[in-house]
Amino acid sequence: MDKLTLANLPTKIYKLGRLSRELDANIYIKRDDQTGSEFSGNKIRKLEYVVKDALDKGCNLLITCGGIQSNHCRATVSVAAYLGLKSAVLLRISDNPPVRGNYFLDKLMGADVKFCTQDEYRHHRNEIMEEMAREYRQQGYKPYVIPEGASNAIGVMGYYNCMDEILRQEKETGITFDTIVVATGSGGTYAGLYLANELKKTGKRIIGMAVCDNTEYFTEIAYDIATGALEYLPEHAGARIDKTHIEINDKYVGIGYALSRPEELEFIKKTARLEGLVLDPVYTGKAMYGVFNELQKGGNLSHRNNILFIHTGGLYGLFPISESFTW
Ligand SMILES: *Cc1c(COP(=O)(O)O)cnc(C)c1O
Repeated sequence: MDKLTLANLPTKIYKLGRLSRELDANIYIKRDDQTGSEFSGNKIRKLEYVVKDALDKGCNLLITCGGIQSNHCRATVSVAAYLGLKSAVLLRISDNPPVRGNYFLDKLMGADVKFCTQDEYRHHRNEIMEEMAREYRQQGYKPYVIPEGASNAIGVMGYYNCMDEILRQEKETGITFDTIVVATGSGGTYAGLYLANELKKTGKRIIGMAVCDNTEYFTEIAYDIATGALEYLPEHAGARIDKTHIEINDKYVGIGYALSRPEELEFIKKTARLEGLVLDPVYTGKAMYGVFNELQKGGNLSHRNNILFIHTGGLYGLFPISESFTW
């Protein structure tokens, strides 16, 4: 499948030496938070495919949705501005939010912003975006609606193909990663890696650390998205993918999406000081906290294996909660 070239690829992989030593483990990190600055994070790999589809269809306006501090919305808005397209975002929020972090960047890069409540978002976000698209069409725009997280059959190609990048890096370094761990919020990143692992028979464990919802929910979502993506992979026509290989760990959701517990913030502080590595509070902080706990408590991760953690970004979402840290 054709794509745009937007992300700085390949992203580097290195070992987190001090964290590994502390846990008597081998933890490597892949810096997908360094795919760009405006473009930073995992969403850009998906948008390379999704926005290519939008351009192929002659669209000149990107519409998408997310939480107030959505990295996906900010990435979409920045891609739109970079390509000279208009953008509009539907943001979930209870009242008029302070202009900070990703939301500040959305405004800075000229997105139209529409707000909705938690409830409207949960049950009607796709209808609301379609309604927005209808209104823009009346104004003469040609809109393209991107679902939450760009987690659809096209967006999934971003991480399906990221697996090839990882396999090349394994060859170059001589290190084989037995286990890949990634934070899971809308499921597309996980689905891409899982699909690649199935079709390319790479035999890894692909673990999704849920940051909302639960294991059953994401197992269905990941399987559905991965199955849908088979349509775009004619070379794998008729291939079977094994749902029982899906591994979602929902033990580290904590108190809910985008809500932080003190121990999670302490962990973000710890890794920042130990490794010069800044994790975000919504996704990677929770996911790496999960890895840390699973290793420390003799949980479900093996010390003998080479674990590759994908840093999926989210830095801008850390600044709006700086006041929550204690020093
Ligand atoms: C969106 C996001 C994720 C989760 O990816 P999904 O494909 O939505 O599951 C993880 N980390 C960060 C920083 C994100 O913005």
